[in-house]
Amino acid sequence: MSMNEVAAPPPKKKRPPPKPVAVASVERVTPGVVRVAFTGEGLAGFAQAKPGAHMKLFFPPGPWPPPEGVENAPRPPSRTYTPRRFDAARSLLEVEFALHGAGLASDWAARAKPGDSMLVAGPGGGYSIPEGVTNIVIVVDDTALPAAGMIVEALPAGCGVVALCEIENAAEERPLSPNVNCSPRWLPRMPAGARAGSLLEAAVADLPAQPEGTQWWIVCEAGAMRRIRDFLATQRGVERACLHTRGYWKPGDLNYPDHDYGND
Ligand SMILES: Cc1cc2nc3c(=O)[nH]c(=O)nc-3n(C[C@H](O)[C@H](O)[C@H](O)COP(=O)(O)OP(=O)(O)OC[C@H]3O[C@@H](n4cnc5c(N)ncnc54)[C@H](O)[C@@H]3O)c2cc1C
Repeated sequence: MSMNEVAAPPPKKKRPPPKPVAVASVERVTPGVVRVAFTGEGLAGFAQAKPGAHMKLFFPPGPWPPPEGVENAPRPPSRTYTPRRFDAARSLLEVEFALHGAGLASDWAARAKPGDSMLVAGPGGGYSIPEGVTNIVIVVDDTALPAAGMIVEALPAGCGVVALCEIENAAEERPLSPNVNCSPRWLPRMPAGARAGSLLEAAVADLPAQPEGTQWWIVCEAGAMRRIRDFLATQRGVERACLHTRGYWKPGDLNYPDHDYGND
C-alpha cells in the first residue's frame, strides 16, 4: 500500500466479495507495459465485458479472505483496470498494466510472476457501440490502449477509424489489436517531455472536419479529457451525444475513481 493511503473501510452496500485468482503468465509487451494473464476458479462466472469495461483488482496485504472470526475486516486496497481479453474456455483473463512510476498497481505489475495471487471483481460498465456507426475517432493515452484495442475489435466492418494514441516514447508503439488492421497516429511525449494529454489536445485541434455522426471516444488523463471534450463541444460543434469521455487518472490522485465521465 502507498505511504499515504489507508485501507478502505468495509463497504456499506453488500457487494459480492472479490474472487481469488493467480498469475498464469507475465509478458513484457513493451518497456512500459506488462501483460498479466490471471487464472483460477475465481474466474468462474466472470462475464464477457463490453469494450472499455472496467474491473477491480485488489491487492491483499496479507492472507485473504481474513481468517474465520475476524469480522468487518477492511477490503484490501483496489485499483481499476480493463479486462482486455477473457477466454472463458481456458479460464484466462488478460490485463495490460502501464508502468507509470510509483503506484501500488504499477509496482505490483513490474514485479509480477507466475503464481502470484490477486483478487478480482467485475467486470462492469463499458461502451455500447452505437448501431450503424460509420466513423469513430479514438483519443487515448497509455492507460486506455487496452480499452481502445477492445473497441476496434468490436466495431462493425468498414467503420472508419482515426486513432490518436499518446505514449511515453516511440518504444511503446504496438498494435492495438492482433486481429484488426488499424494504424494509430502515435504521439510520443518523449524526448520533448510533453505534459500528459497535451499532445492529444493538439492533435484533436489539428484534425480535419469529421463526417457527420462521427463518434468520439476520448479516454485519458482527466484534465486533458475535459479540455478536449470542451473544445469539441464548443469549438467544433460536436453533439454531446457523440462524445464518450472518461478520465482514467489524474496527477497526484491515488486510486482514481472509475466513474469520471467528465459531465461536470
Ligand atoms: C475504467 C478504468 C480503466 C483503466 N484501465 C487501465 C488499464 O487497462 N491499464 C492501465 O495501465 N491503467 C488503467 N487505468 C488507469 C489506472 O487505474 C491508474 O493509472 C491507476 O492510478 C494505477 O494505479 P497505481 O496503484 O499504479 O497508481 P496510484 O497509487 O493510483 O497513483 C500513484 C501516483 O501515480 C499517478 N499515476 C497514476 N496513473 C498514472 C499514469 N498513467 N501516468 C502517470 N502518473 C500516474 C497518480 O496520479 C499518483 O500520483 C484505468 C482506469 C480506469 C478508471
